Amino acid sequence: MADIAAPNSLPATTSPGQAAAAAAAAPQQPEYPTSLLAGLNCIGNTHLIIGCNPLAAARCTQSLAAGAHPILLAPDNGEADQLHYALRSKVDDGSVRWEKKIFEDDDLFKLGREEVGGVVDAVFVTSGCRDPIASHISQLCRRNRIPVNVVDSPSLCTFTLLSTHTDGPLQIGVTTNGRGCKLASRIRREISSALPQNLGDACARLGEIRRRVQEADGAVLQEGDDTEESVGQGAAFNKLVGVKKEEEREELKTRRMRWLAQVCEYWPLKRLASVADSDVETILNTYPTTSTAPSPSPPASPSSSTPLGRIILAGSGPGHPSLLTLATHSAIQTADLILADKLVPAPILDLIPRRTPVQIARKFPGNADAAQEELHVTALAAVREGKTVLRLKQGDPYVYGRGGEEVKYFWENGVRGEDRVVVLPGVTSALSAPLFAEITATQRDVADQVLICTGTGKKGKAPTPPEFVASRTVVFLMALHRITGLIQELTQPLETEDGDNNNNLTRKLWPLDTPCAVIERASCPDQRVIRTTLGRVAEAIETEGSRPPGLLVVGRACEVLRQAEEGKAWVVEEGFRGLDGVLGRVGLEEAKAVCA
Ligand code: SAH
Repeated sequence: MADIAAPNSLPATTSPGQAAAAAAAAPQQPEYPTSLLAGLNCIGNTHLIIGCNPLAAARCTQSLAAGAHPILLAPDNGEADQLHYALRSKVDDGSVRWEKKIFEDDDLFKLGREEVGGVVDAVFVTSGCRDPIASHISQLCRRNRIPVNVVDSPSLCTFTLLSTHTDGPLQIGVTTNGRGCKLASRIRREISSALPQNLGDACARLGEIRRRVQEADGAVLQEGDDTEESVGQGAAFNKLVGVKKEEEREELKTRRMRWLAQVCEYWPLKRLASVADSDVETILNTYPTTSTAPSPSPPASPSSSTPLGRIILAGSGPGHPSLLTLATHSAIQTADLILADKLVPAPILDLIPRRTPVQIARKFPGNADAAQEELHVTALAAVREGKTVLRLKQGDPYVYGRGGEEVKYFWENGVRGEDRVVVLPGVTSALSAPLFAEITATQRDVADQVLICTGTGKKGKAPTPPEFVASRTVVFLMALHRITGLIQELTQPLETEDGDNNNNLTRKLWPLDTPCAVIERASCPDQRVIRTTLGRVAEAIETEGSRPPGLLVVGRACEVLRQAEEGKAWVVEEGFRGLDGVLGRVGLEEAKAVCA
């Protein structure tokens, strides 16, 4: 695969959806025109490389790596060192063909593959724009729709090459769109050095699992699964397992595939990079296609000689490690075993000492109960062995975190009293995500109440929608995967099967122009905020894709500090401003010192 950028091929806005959002208004000129990035399948293609300098040698290497056949076009000047040593050896071993002649127009149409009538598939001019032949070749190629690249001459190129990092099947390409290849290369190096080792192998392994699961289950790929576009998850990603029987059977077929998709989404990269053959077997042997995996049974009661350990349920906050409490941080450092929810982000998992075993919940839509049971059983067994077990939960453990259920389970299984079950609060996403999106949930004279709701009830059923109160801010968790239904319930009378529309007669509906915001991955580096209205939010999510976890905030508080932009149906804001500037090295470093 060769990574290329077609310069200025399409005027792109900062986000694809913003174009749609602005469609009604005057067309927006992008601040910086960007390229269409693509991975080209070049296997068997003919690449014509004009010139024989060291750059030509590099182009030949890239071309060969992409499976193409490079032809070097340069007259032989008879000097022994005309070709770089590496290039000479490729010519000698036949992998590069050397046409010893000066360029003639006909070369473009004769040296290529038979299959395409002899036309070459791409041309690389390595001598630069000052060579008068460069602009002639560029023009000729453009006229004949042959992709052409002239070194250091963006205006003569129809495509440019990216600065790439390659590790097995993994390729990462960076372009600054002509602002400087040194800069692009520096950025690429920074990105690649931040990646865990063996990520390429992991991609190969995970790809293999995906292929085998697909083969075994005949799993139908979800929308967006077979492309690698960066629009985030399709709206179906977090779809719950249907409640009806026949739907359930269909859903079972895709169970392992969805588990795999969630592993890729939620496991820390370091963990993904170390995925081993045993993980492959575990995934393949889990969740058979015909029935739900049997639920694990609680471990036998302990022998009275082993003193009980302790279970700590702790909230890890919305994502940024600085938002951990000192108590939770200390629990992370001292626990014997950590059982983490899948939403606990990698920077927090990175704080876990190497010696501490960690298990991440195998929760994915439709499997939450089984995964919860699995964690209960593991935790109980360890507590009975006298261990201190940390159940690390995202946000606050008692805000839709099933924290109460867990406490009850341990009590019922004999782990209770004094400090056997300890619950530590966490910063909940329900209140901190609005803050990070500059939404003042209880702004005086605007909102005198905040309601935290779930968008998804038990077994995937819709909960009763909260009615409109002008001075209310509503935060919906676990709601974005069914945004269309939720908006209908909030803004339209309910269609009831039994004709009971009492609820409809008394329930006040939310106006479609109520401001709202979708906040995803709050406090993480890839935080995203979409500001819009109830009338347009479903369309905005559909267009922008989803980036779980995310929540919806509704009410006039959304527009206190941030007004809507005139003429735009929605606005997308990327990135988290970060706490590091505020905390400096205090924050986490200090927390570590205190806990040490
Ligand atoms: N106990 C958690 C909530 C668990 S329910 C807490 O107090 O935050 C899971 C839901 O929380 C997700 O579906 C999403 O709606 C929300 N959520 C969790 N983390 C989030 C984050 N960083 N940004 C936005 N929403 C988040």
